[in-house]
Amino acid sequence: MSRIAFIGAGNMGLPMLRNLIGAGHEVRAYDVSPDALAEAVQAGADEAVSLADAVTAAEIVITMLPEGRHVRAVYLGDGGNDGIIGHAPREALLADCSTIDIATAREVAATASESGYEMIDAPVSGGVTGAAAGTLTFMVGGSAAGYERASQSSPRWGATWPTSADRARAGHQDLQQHDGGDRDHRGVRGLLPWRALGLDSKKLYDVLSTSTGQTWMMDHMHPVPGIVETAPSNRNYAPGFKAALMAKDLGLAQSAAADTGTSTPLGADAAALFRMLCKNGAGELDCSAVYKLLHGDL
Ligand code: NAD
Repeated sequence: MSRIAFIGAGNMGLPMLRNLIGAGHEVRAYDVSPDALAEAVQAGADEAVSLADAVTAAEIVITMLPEGRHVRAVYLGDGGNDGIIGHAPREALLADCSTIDIATAREVAATASESGYEMIDAPVSGGVTGAAAGTLTFMVGGSAAGYERASQSSPRWGATWPTSADRARAGHQDLQQHDGGDRDHRGVRGLLPWRALGLDSKKLYDVLSTSTGQTWMMDHMHPVPGIVETAPSNRNYAPGFKAALMAKDLGLAQSAAADTGTSTPLGADAAALFRMLCKNGAGELDCSAVYKLLHGDL
């Protein structure tokens, strides 16, 4: 079992660290949000009073943060060596599980490597339900040695496959775009005519969920309250997966599409829609709140 520093105990980080504690690891948590940190402590983590305090004696450091700017700040600090890089022991394995831009991922990994650390890039797919169930898919980039260390030392990392860091990033963003944002907004748009025709949303779901219309998003994050019990729509759209993070992921996917000269018109449409959702003040709501925007509630 390992001594793990876990940085970022939000909607994903909290269930992930809970599983690591359940598997017998010693977890020391840090989050800038006192509420998030308190929940981590309630889940059985040791409370770190600072980033340095969290990582000083760690064998593995896991970060689960919103965006590239947070990851950059946490690893590099102000001057390049007063973040995790600098404070964590050189033998520690560093693993960033956040979904971030390629440029930041490359910069942080290069600085870690120059400073003598083994670092892997391990963004996830599976949502908060997958995080709670310990069934996330991790898309691991980095050295084969780093991958081996991660899979051996932590039994709850989920399904993994090794690939280069950049391919993992691009692949993950592509997947987010198509399996998350696109499907979410296409699925939600698809509900609107039926709603306008007065069809009962539950009956429609019963048909779609057992036919070729079935999607992961509708099964886990159905946007209409009262249909899928655990969906964010049943708790006033508390996330879940924040709309601001969906807008970020779709933006990253659009950048990757532009960089590679590929055309992703459905992704562009979804990106514009989620940006609008955020502009309407709903960035902190679950991304399924896009339903409210589309039928005029926001
Ligand atoms: P979240 O906003 O719920 O949690 C992020 C946590 O990081 C917050 O508690 C925040 O206080 C903390 N944080 C921010 N800056 C920090 C810092 N400098 N030091 C310490 N803590 C800091 O986000 P989330 O939903 O848990 O998502 C985390 C990452 O996982 C994102 O990159 C997201 O795109 C990705 N992701 C999320 C889901 C999902 O369903 N929520 C699914 C797949 C991937």
